Amino acid sequence: MAYSTDMGVRAIHEGIAAGEFSAREVAQASFEHIAKADADVHAYLELTEDAAFAAADKVDAAVADGTFEQMGPLAGVPVAFKDNMNMEGTHTTCSSKMLENYVSPYTATCVSRLVEAGGLPLGKLNMDEFAFGSSTETSAFGPTKNPWDLSRVPGGSSGGSAAAAAAGMACITLGSDTGGSIRQPASFCGVVGVKPTYGMVSRYGVVAFGSSLDQVGPFTRSVEDAAYAMDALCGFDPRDCTSQHFTPHFVDALSQGVEDMKVGIVPGFMDSPGLTAEVKEKVNEAAAKLEAAGAELVEVELPHADAAISAYYVLGPCEAFSNLARFDSVRYGYCAEGHKDLGGQYEGSRAGGFGMEAKRRIMLGSYLLSAGVYEKYYYPAQQVRRLITQDYERAYESCDVILIPTSPRAAFQFGEIGDPVEMHLSDIFTVSINIAGNGGMSVPCGLGSESGMPIGVQLVSPQFKDVNMFRAAAALEAAYGPAPVAPAFQAGE
Ligand code: GLN
Repeated sequence: MAYSTDMGVRAIHEGIAAGEFSAREVAQASFEHIAKADADVHAYLELTEDAAFAAADKVDAAVADGTFEQMGPLAGVPVAFKDNMNMEGTHTTCSSKMLENYVSPYTATCVSRLVEAGGLPLGKLNMDEFAFGSSTETSAFGPTKNPWDLSRVPGGSSGGSAAAAAAGMACITLGSDTGGSIRQPASFCGVVGVKPTYGMVSRYGVVAFGSSLDQVGPFTRSVEDAAYAMDALCGFDPRDCTSQHFTPHFVDALSQGVEDMKVGIVPGFMDSPGLTAEVKEKVNEAAAKLEAAGAELVEVELPHADAAISAYYVLGPCEAFSNLARFDSVRYGYCAEGHKDLGGQYEGSRAGGFGMEAKRRIMLGSYLLSAGVYEKYYYPAQQVRRLITQDYERAYESCDVILIPTSPRAAFQFGEIGDPVEMHLSDIFTVSINIAGNGGMSVPCGLGSESGMPIGVQLVSPQFKDVNMFRAAAALEAAYGPAPVAPAFQAGE
């Protein structure tokens, strides 16, 4: 069988091993597909043809000398990276004017792990500026469009990563998730999106937003592909002081079924303001499917969930404010011309280099951390963080995984949510998982009855028990079928 851009990891591996196509052909076909599909979608900011073909040649050389099987399952698999991940020699812009001309002098661990596993790096993907946002509309280089309906947003902040996976423009893409930026766009674009437990995947080389909340994870069209990606990504990295020793066995866990599992459902969440009827329907339907697959449903409570958004929008901006201080036009980034003194240059460069949402976060963080204010907001937010973490710990005494919505609604139209607070409120179901440091993933459940757009449900696991959510995800996928490539972008169209 010839290579086609909708193939998953296993099919690519088997095709190359059997000599049906070469890794070079995979790279070639991927770039041809991107040239057509991305004219509409705008997921890629930069293509890395040289790196992809060099990686492909290594794979093809291994096939020729009989060592292909030793290369691991990602050999020859097209991969791509969110543009806040450093890859030596590429621009790492974070979709900002501030870093428009920044070229990475080194490579992030998450990038090198996929490339060392044999992945073909196709390029860098669009995002909300510095990962602030839920729609990819804040990119300084124009928005990415949702491959299922070009008038709608792909979600954010990893919108380019979600859209590329959904349109078959890479088999595995990486995103980062501080408050939902992998799971929400995965739900909007109808793909699998995983935010691993905090500390499971190295953050080294990923431009920081909220260092105590950020995690890197994959987008794929199948649960199995996500498991392959996780097996390659996870594990200790001495360059990230929060990285943990962990030996991943995600692919092996997929066949275990859910007969011995207890799935927590949270009835209190079903009355959340803004939760649409079609998402509610999907959560109930997914619960029924897990029960039919043999899991036991148990009701759990997360009593402090209401406070999660407030805590997140204190902690997140405080950490962002600190992390973005380095973009000062001297060490990094955009430099405004014509200033005589350093203070003026600093002010002018930050005023001109950052977009509106980044400025909003910086100003908020600076205010919240100032003397006298700190005690009123930052300190209580940390206390709320503890309460939310304890809520989850208590819930996991009676279940192995929790099933909740990913986003209150399906993908919205461009410009539909103009009010930043309304945009922030749409993170209601995702932020608490970053606050508690648990694993969370969004799994596609077909199309919504009203919008006709993809909808995902979210599975949440205790820390370092992310295999639990993969097992439940595999059961859901068995019931719903793997996510298709968005209809207009299927191979050959
Ligand atoms: N939408 C959230 C925010 O704007 C989450 C962003 C993220 O996870 N990077 O902060």
